[in-house]
Amino acid sequence: MTRPSELMRPEVLERAAYAVADAAGLIKLDAMENPFPWPGELEAAWLEALRGVELNRYPDPGGREITAALRAAHGVPEEAGCLLGNGSDELIQILITAVQGSGRPVVSPVPTFVMYEVLARAAGVPFVGVPLASDFDLDLPALLHVLERERPALLFLAFPNNPTGRLYDPGMVAELVAANPGVTVIDEAYAPFASHSFLPRAGTPPGLMVMRTLSKLGLAGLRLGYLAASAEWIDALDRLRLPYNVNTLTQRSILFALEHNGRLEQQAGLLRQERTRIAAALGALPGVRRVVPSEANFILFEVASGRGRAAFESLLASGILIKDVGRSGGVLADHLRVTVGAPAENDAFLAALASALGNPG
Ligand SMILES: *Cc1c(COP(=O)(O)O)cnc(C)c1O
Repeated sequence: MTRPSELMRPEVLERAAYAVADAAGLIKLDAMENPFPWPGELEAAWLEALRGVELNRYPDPGGREITAALRAAHGVPEEAGCLLGNGSDELIQILITAVQGSGRPVVSPVPTFVMYEVLARAAGVPFVGVPLASDFDLDLPALLHVLERERPALLFLAFPNNPTGRLYDPGMVAELVAANPGVTVIDEAYAPFASHSFLPRAGTPPGLMVMRTLSKLGLAGLRLGYLAASAEWIDALDRLRLPYNVNTLTQRSILFALEHNGRLEQQAGLLRQERTRIAAALGALPGVRRVVPSEANFILFEVASGRGRAAFESLLASGILIKDVGRSGGVLADHLRVTVGAPAENDAFLAALASALGNPG
């Protein structure tokens, strides 16, 4: 009888599938989603825009219309190419598959977004994590050393980083791009909340790629990301893309959403304000040891030694789901990550956390 273990690598089988917490009935502040639903009249207009979509036909394989709309809305450089993905997760997978045969590793500062390592290992590509500095900015000398030693195929820089929220020093990022003999992928998943972007430089030099997603802006359910890079690279990577990776409903909905981009940007602005408010409140809470400066729509904070899990559980008991990123210890021990929610959700979170930290045991 054929069993997975006979045919699949142990490295893949040993890993648990990507776990998503059940948020039913909870205030959901764990996954960097935009908390605001569309108002009724906008939803009605969107449903109207979906009328007549031909579900019996395959989608436009190249997503030409949404690519043009995205390029215009975000200012992708004219000379750069653009590849669409079913979320940026798919683009990470395409990039790793593309370099699989090179024998060169994937490098990233750690802790960072787990999919770089997960997808590298799934593809049998070595992953080298370079620890961040204690303030969670880049350790530039260590990274330069690893670039020289490993000659990676891909260097992933989440900018701002997840789960720390920190925007790396742009000067250090530029130095890494210049020193990296391989491709540098700047993952700007949190661009709507950040003060700096490398998108205007995508493709120059040719090893510089910038990845974006619409998930964190407020369209996580549609699954759309894109990669901006030199035309030569996009042309090469396009050979690995599944023909109809962005479905018709997503294409039509994204077009509609981009026509109403102002509303999403307005929501992002409100979330940035709320981020400032939560960070200040966290900083003033006894029992919170540090609040990491964030340029994303979430905040990483550290509670007293050994209290992280209990604080998380106590919030959960109060009906609030955040992320216990310190679960597996290391530099993130006792660190919790909270997504910026709607004002009332944030108030509920802050009140519950205050009581969680004030009543130990
Ligand atoms: C959320 C996230 C992504 C994945 O986004 P999708 O487009 O929803 O797949 C990619 N990179 C980072 C750093 C993220 O935090």
